[in-house]
Amino acid sequence: MKDRIALVTGASKGIGRAICTRLAKGGATVVACARNGAALDALAAEVKERELPGRIDPRTLDVCDKSAIEALVEAVVEAHERIDILVNNAGITRDGLLMTMEDDQFDDVLTTNLRAAFWLTRAVSRIMVRQRYGRIINISSVSGVMGNPGQVNYAASKAGLIGMTKSIAKELGKRKITCNVVAPGFIQTDMTAGLPDKLKESAKLAIPMGRFGEVDEVAESVAFFAGEGASYITGQVLIVDGGLRM
Ligand code: NAP
Repeated sequence: MKDRIALVTGASKGIGRAICTRLAKGGATVVACARNGAALDALAAEVKERELPGRIDPRTLDVCDKSAIEALVEAVVEAHERIDILVNNAGITRDGLLMTMEDDQFDDVLTTNLRAAFWLTRAVSRIMVRQRYGRIINISSVSGVMGNPGQVNYAASKAGLIGMTKSIAKELGKRKITCNVVAPGFIQTDMTAGLPDKLKESAKLAIPMGRFGEVDEVAESVAFFAGEGASYITGQVLIVDGGLRM
């Protein structure tokens, strides 16, 4: 990944932060995006302090703001000349049962998790087509593959990402651009920290490996798709869930 330019959303914490660190370990320059600018600055400082071969370029971004996304892509190309790797990782949950789910609850999740990935990938694909090189990795979820009660909105957004990924893979394959999905199961982050203890315990019983995953275990799969070794893999869904969905 040396000399590669990567753009990662949802980089301020959790899985996105681990992805940025892993790509920087591989030598990439990582444009790290999220709303929390202070957290991004802290990530940049940490990568510098650890003397990793790559570096972090922190950029504040709300992925729900289409014009901000377009401006960001322009600014990144101006600063770095190319974008080789795109990781659509920013995501939220607003869980609730179907019968009582509000329109806002549905729309907010679809906008953050799916529309934003469409906006960003559309803008970045134009650059990748010009370069005749690109690695796009979308972070979905086992919820999008299996469905999950209380997550009609979230599962729809994550299943949507899988359909979008396969279509992009078919459209852009001949331009040397791959597009793949990493679909995590239960991973230890703020997103799962708030789940009731009872639910966490029953989830662990359903996971053959008997534990939640670590953010670094997801980041490693992203690095695989982003690396040179995955050059003939596109349109795939890699499930990182300790065997949950098997
Ligand atoms: P997290 O710890 O809650 O982090 C979410 C990240 O998304 C933060 O960096 C947040 O940054 C960013 N984000 C949210 N809304 C945003 C917005 N409007 N604009 C820009 N950035 C935004 O979540 P996580 O567990 O690491 O999840 C990362 C991805 O993995 C998500 O797509 C999630 O659906 C998926 N996933 C997670 C799990 C799990 O068990 N944790 C399982 C399957 C899939 P700011 O708040 O600073 O903007």
